[in-house]
Amino acid sequence: MPNTIPLPRLTFHTQSHTLGNQQDPRVNTSSIGRPCPECGSSRHTTACEEEHFRVLRCADCSLVFLGNPPDETGLYDEYHGGPGPDPTAYTADSHVPELRELHAINLQRCAWIRSTSEGKSLLDIGCGRGFFVKSAQREGFLAQGIDVAGAAIRYANERLNAPAGQETIDAVAAQGRTYDIITMWHVLEHLARPRDALQTARSLLAPGGMLYLEVPNWNSLKFVLTGRRWEGGNHPRFHRTFFTPATLSRCLTSAGYAYVTRARISYAVPGRGDAYRLIKRALNEIGRDAFLDFSARA
Ligand SMILES: [Zn+2]
Repeated sequence: MPNTIPLPRLTFHTQSHTLGNQQDPRVNTSSIGRPCPECGSSRHTTACEEEHFRVLRCADCSLVFLGNPPDETGLYDEYHGGPGPDPTAYTADSHVPELRELHAINLQRCAWIRSTSEGKSLLDIGCGRGFFVKSAQREGFLAQGIDVAGAAIRYANERLNAPAGQETIDAVAAQGRTYDIITMWHVLEHLARPRDALQTARSLLAPGGMLYLEVPNWNSLKFVLTGRRWEGGNHPRFHRTFFTPATLSRCLTSAGYAYVTRARISYAVPGRGDAYRLIKRALNEIGRDAFLDFSARA
């Protein structure tokens, strides 16, 4: 859901793309910023910066990540702050455009899962206010969600009547439960150590279970053209890791997943014409669409 927190203005270093060159003077090995959460390297270039936030690009594996992530305490209650939309407006023909669009997208996510998995039990990690859980339930999945934000979980339970709990992924793992399907819609980019979360999620999957996820695409044409203002790809307070098709694929593989697949999904969105979808599909084909959709098997 859109949030109302003003975006910081970022300064981009567009000439910092050269990678893997020991002699490149732009490669910074100083102690400013943490090591790469994917490969552990301390060699990086600065991709963009604003005030005290620095987005770094690993010189060894190319992962883009926030070098100095802020404390998360209370962050996601702020993210999901406010009363939230009218839950009865979450329908296919809703008068609220954002909910009508989200409803359509979530149905297509369910169709994607059904076309590639026969599983029924589903855990939505980072479920927010629970809209996907609600759709998955209606579509016949045994769905439940978890999120760290108490405000979002209260909305899910009390207003949307969606089964969700305020839990961490580690707490669920400690309970020894397993699921056929795990979904993470726009979650991974919020994490400072995404591979750790992917490994824990894998431990929650039954043998042959499937993970489905979506993140903003650092390589998207929209981001390249309007990056400084596009919240989907760049929001240092909330987004800590920024993926390309290659770095997300690597992250999933190194977390132990098999059959890592980038899905060529171009959601049909009500109110937008076929031309819109065709352009999205073309961008998707070349890895330049706004979002990346991946599936992987445990
Ligand atoms: Zn790295």
